[in-house]
Amino acid sequence: MAGIIDGKKISQEIKDEVKEKVEQLSKKGIQPCLAVILVGDDPASQVYVRNKKRACEYCGIKSLNYELPEETTEKELLALVDELNNSKECNGILVQLPLPKHIDENKVLLKIKPEKDVDGFHPYNVGLLSIGKADLKACTPAGCIELIKRSGVDITRKNCVVVGRSNIVGKPVGMLLLSENGTVTTCHSKTKNMSEICKSADILVVAIGKEKFIKADMVKEGAVVIDVGINRMENGKLCGDVDFAEVEKKASLITPVPGGVGPMTIAMLMNNCLIACKKQNM
Ligand code: NDP
Repeated sequence: MAGIIDGKKISQEIKDEVKEKVEQLSKKGIQPCLAVILVGDDPASQVYVRNKKRACEYCGIKSLNYELPEETTEKELLALVDELNNSKECNGILVQLPLPKHIDENKVLLKIKPEKDVDGFHPYNVGLLSIGKADLKACTPAGCIELIKRSGVDITRKNCVVVGRSNIVGKPVGMLLLSENGTVTTCHSKTKNMSEICKSADILVVAIGKEKFIKADMVKEGAVVIDVGINRMENGKLCGDVDFAEVEKKASLITPVPGGVGPMTIAMLMNNCLIACKKQNM
């Protein structure tokens, strides 16, 4: 039976570390500040934004919340981002995705100053990540790496297989594993012999968005399995991209869904706010 990687516990540790560093900064009269922009009234986005606000409060990070109506124009949103880019108080800007269809997401993300891009999605930061020099790393991928390392696993020399190649998860996870000296293979929907490739993995990271897709016969005995997927099953419960019940019997370590990668994203966002604030003030 695999050991369970407890994302709730590890994310709490990270938030506590951030909180402590924020307290130290406050002695110098500095308080990190995150601006969160939500456009429209998507219920899932509202929950994410509320959770981010709560995490900020916990860590001692000031949050500025902008809840804009659905009809907000692209021009208005870009103007707000610009104002926050130039604000001395605000260290990080997060635009909650998805945006309403009449707004070009890419244009908005490009408008955010790279040093305030706490989501790590700006091409400048993605470029830095690809040369192993990023300060602001995409939160979910950075969270995967923390889960692996804080579970006592050394990535160096490991065969790492990433299933999924999205810009927000799969690709940055691959780049981070490479920076940690893993030997990385990325699989996607056009990959041949995927089962065999997955079976070669010492560390398997899965981010495809397909309910219980990875079965035990695709996993090597003793592998470390990180499941990024969040899928809602017919019964309303959440499950990952990995068939947890089967794979747990074969893996050495595995993340559950929920309670694995999920909680790490906000913890890493808090860490990015701290990093951005320090860089802007010191
Ligand atoms: P995308 O839909 O953007 O990308 C999915 C990727 O999976 C694509 O690269 C696609 O390949 C690949 N893929 C799809 N089907 C298969 C298949 N049968 N075999 C191999 N590869 C396949 O998803 P995201 O990366 O945004 O998200 C993935 C999952 O992670 C989702 O469940 C999402 O909810 C979750 N997620 C969780 C987060 C968190 O925990 N905080 C944050 C972000 C995402 P191709 O490129 O060829 O189409």
